Amino acid sequence: MNAEQIRELSAQADLRPLTGEEVLAMVKSEGEDAFDALMDGAESLRRKYKGNDVSLCAIVNAKSGKCGENCGFCAQSVHFDTGVSEYDFIGKDAVLDAAKRARQMGAREFSMVLAGRKIRKKEIRIAQEIFPEIQRETGMSPCCSPGAVNAEDVAELKAAGLNMFHHNLETARSHYAEVCGTRDYDDNRRAVEEANKAGLFTCCGGIFGMGETWEQRVELLLDLRELDVDSVPINFLNPIPGTPMENFETLPEEECLRIIALARHLMPTKQILIAGGRQVHLKDRQKDIFRAGASGMMIGDYLTTKGADPWQDHRMLEELGMSIAPCDKHGGHADVTEPVASPIPVQPLPTGYTPVRFVRSPE
Ligand code: SF4
Repeated sequence: MNAEQIRELSAQADLRPLTGEEVLAMVKSEGEDAFDALMDGAESLRRKYKGNDVSLCAIVNAKSGKCGENCGFCAQSVHFDTGVSEYDFIGKDAVLDAAKRARQMGAREFSMVLAGRKIRKKEIRIAQEIFPEIQRETGMSPCCSPGAVNAEDVAELKAAGLNMFHHNLETARSHYAEVCGTRDYDDNRRAVEEANKAGLFTCCGGIFGMGETWEQRVELLLDLRELDVDSVPINFLNPIPGTPMENFETLPEEECLRIIALARHLMPTKQILIAGGRQVHLKDRQKDIFRAGASGMMIGDYLTTKGADPWQDHRMLEELGMSIAPCDKHGGHADVTEPVASPIPVQPLPTGYTPVRFVRSPE
């Protein structure tokens, strides 16, 4: 497909759902002109539906390690010797502290992530106190990654005050057995369906760079489109020593940008959020994620690996003229005109840094 054909097809993405064959042809087209056309199309869709607002989320690893599942990318599985920190649920006060730090970093959504197949009943009972307090004390929208839960768990989480539900499908159905052997793709998909049915905002994506083909990337993204999730986190594999994927090569930067653009073309109106592996894969091209169609990113540390200095991310957003998106649509009420608090205890501000006042871009 040449650049002109890509531009024409990209314009169609706004009028009708593109097919898998169409986006595959677009994304596989080689040459600088074709790449630029793909990026231009993705950026134009992002600008139309998300403006210059960037959704910022942060997470806390609220229970780490000792997981009986064997997801091949994960440091927290008991099946692999990764030396990861192992601890049980950190409890209410520690989660709230982490939420406050996330708020200081400028996050507007905050997710409590628990290792393991799914959240336990006693953890849901503690969450009943945590979720409302996150919202009350920080104004952020409480999110949780509770694992492959069932309808009853989802109802209890919602009753506990949860607004956003996060659970990844990880990879395409046709590639899933290569990634995890202890549960199947539909366990993950069912959990997201239940959250959708319960009326929770759903955040569901996958990890790229786990040996999947372009066809499988499209397969996963088409399934996410069918699930009609609200937000799609795109992670890139950060190979962890000790896991079966420790020797996987990182993806070239341009390939990562093509994946983001692919997601934007398939789901023009959704939140496309870049999460784990951003620094490792994109390196000095992190600014380009917005040109490729991203409308959000995770800031701070990831589950078991260090993230970027949040103030560097803020500087990047400032240089790009981006604003932090509010989270009021999800039940949070964080004031987007409030300056980002500084300094946060673990990440002192660089010398000479002036706190940035982020404002909502014009509707
Ligand atoms: S990704 Fe989740 S379910 Fe899979 S091994 Fe890691 S903690 Fe367990």
